[in-house]
Amino acid sequence: MKDESRYDVWLLGRSQDGGLPHVGCMQACCAEARKTGRREYPCALGVHDRVSGALALIEATPAVEPQLAMLHALAGVSGCVRRPVEAVLITHAHIGHYAGLVQFGEEVAATDHLPLFVTPQMANFLRANQPWAQLVTYGQVDVHEVDPGKSCEPIPGLEVDFIAVPHRDEHSDTVAFKLRGPERTLLWAPDVDQWGRHDGLLADLLDDVDVAYVDATFYDGRELSGRDLDGIPHPLIVETMDAWADQAAARPGVIRFIHMNHTNPALHDSAIVEKIERAGFCVASMGERHSL
Ligand SMILES: [Zn+2]
Ligand SMILES: [Zn+2]
Repeated sequence: MKDESRYDVWLLGRSQDGGLPHVGCMQACCAEARKTGRREYPCALGVHDRVSGALALIEATPAVEPQLAMLHALAGVSGCVRRPVEAVLITHAHIGHYAGLVQFGEEVAATDHLPLFVTPQMANFLRANQPWAQLVTYGQVDVHEVDPGKSCEPIPGLEVDFIAVPHRDEHSDTVAFKLRGPERTLLWAPDVDQWGRHDGLLADLLDDVDVAYVDATFYDGRELSGRDLDGIPHPLIVETMDAWADQAAARPGVIRFIHMNHTNPALHDSAIVEKIERAGFCVASMGERHSL
């Protein structure tokens, strides 16, 4: 069958907002990484339109510089300082997802009206708070508001659905994205509450997608000794595996785990990674590519 895909999508990071090594963590997970130089960046995606050459970045993480460099190298496209990509999309107002916007400001790249696609609530948060507000008033970013439930076209021909998801929404609402190319559809859902709290949420998110990046902040809670799991609003990997066992066995590799906390054994323990993969799920790898 002929592959008519047009967009390459790369995973530019797979960890929770704090990355790895995680600031101040003296446990083996991060002490070892400091010794070996291992780096896990907060989760983000890069998209390349092979027809127009346009690039899009999904999430502006604190590691935005190495992630943009990775995207330019993988796509074989050289961005420029004032326009490193043609569009940026952000899911919500938590540090790991938007703090990288500071690098587009006056003191660094001073980007030139970089299109930024966010929900109206996220747009209000950016306009109301420095240093994000000056990005807007100085024209370093142009904010495009997209209502949850609606879609946008951040680069030519790529349709992106904004889907409201329940999450700890102190500063903005939270969305997941569905990226629709001519051949395939990809889900980006890095931060959501436990599936059990919202009937049908997982099924709705996975409906009609070929590749699904989902929140896997914690494995089974063992990495949170002494903390009440009810106060940690993320689905556990073991819960996702339980909820979706039959479907994953039938279509292995569709569900790909991201947003892993530095302590998550899926980042450190090959026996756990194997167990996940034997069940038809996948621990996503930095740099992996899908074509849409
Ligand atoms: Zn996050
Ligand atoms: Zn750690």
